[in-house]
Amino acid sequence: AAPLAIVRGTGAAADSGIVMRTGEAFQTFRLVRRIVLDKTGTLTQGRPTVRAVEAVDGDTEALLEVAAGAESPSEHPLARAVVTAARERGLRVPDAQEFHSVTGSGVRATVHGQAVLVGQPAFLTDNGVDLTTVTARIDQQQAAGHTVVVIAVAGAVHGLIALGDQLRADAADAVARMRAAGLDPVLVTGDNERAARRVADELGITQVRAGVRPEGKAEIVRELQADNTRVAMVGDGINDAPALMQADVGIAAGGGTDIAVESADIVLLRDEVTAALDAREISTRSYHRTR
Ligand code: ADP
Ligand code: MG
Repeated sequence: AAPLAIVRGTGAAADSGIVMRTGEAFQTFRLVRRIVLDKTGTLTQGRPTVRAVEAVDGDTEALLEVAAGAESPSEHPLARAVVTAARERGLRVPDAQEFHSVTGSGVRATVHGQAVLVGQPAFLTDNGVDLTTVTARIDQQQAAGHTVVVIAVAGAVHGLIALGDQLRADAADAVARMRAAGLDPVLVTGDNERAARRVADELGITQVRAGVRPEGKAEIVRELQADNTRVAMVGDGINDAPALMQADVGIAAGGGTDIAVESADIVLLRDEVTAALDAREISTRSYHRTR
């Protein structure tokens, strides 16, 4: 397409709250046949709330307090939800020392002088924490479609927090439009299989990859690019950045983190997934107009 197509398209996109950051992605979008969708913050609102707190010793307030302390420096939506839940219950959130975040897994910090881990079950077992006493409860919460974070203090499991997130209002419409446009959707998430399946089933997505690390997301995009297939990726988080760079068209969802925005070819300013389809239509239209 002529540069004029890009100039026109850029203007049309801006009117729809879409920023086209690269001319190339603009021209490639009409050739895309597969679209990778991040779950949390892309298909869901990314504003999880705490649905259940279960302590091994029954003291749910102490559990929530220590978890909130460890999570307080984290920007992750799950961390924000844990801190909010603690404040809402009138708890004082303790300070965290030696805070360390492991993207796509969880956090580690010292709270009240003790080593605390908060994160997905695999993150705790990788760190040598025995989860057998809470396995049944984890299963139960995940079966309910919840994201489960487990808390360990001084190497021993202390309990779990189950969180839920709502689908974006336009997510189902967006997936239907993707199919109609010949884009094959694939849901990819760092979250557990059951929470992922539940979202996929509600939206009519059949391809699901769960429990995926940030590098794994980029690897999946690469796999899907086999046979020269053009692949788009929509994501919002730090954990999505490598996959957004790997994709032929990387799209940062509305409200995406700075790193996601910097890694993307297209930035959606609207808080709607359907904006990705609008971006595709604008690029296709402006291409045809000048051909
Ligand atoms: P997604 O791919 O769905 O956007 P992430 O890759 O950000 O999710 O996170 C994957 C999983 O890692 C989460 O579902 C959660 O279990 C765990 N996790 C990541 N960050 C944190 C955190 N700050 N606190 C607790 N758990 C976390
Ligand atoms: Mg996300």
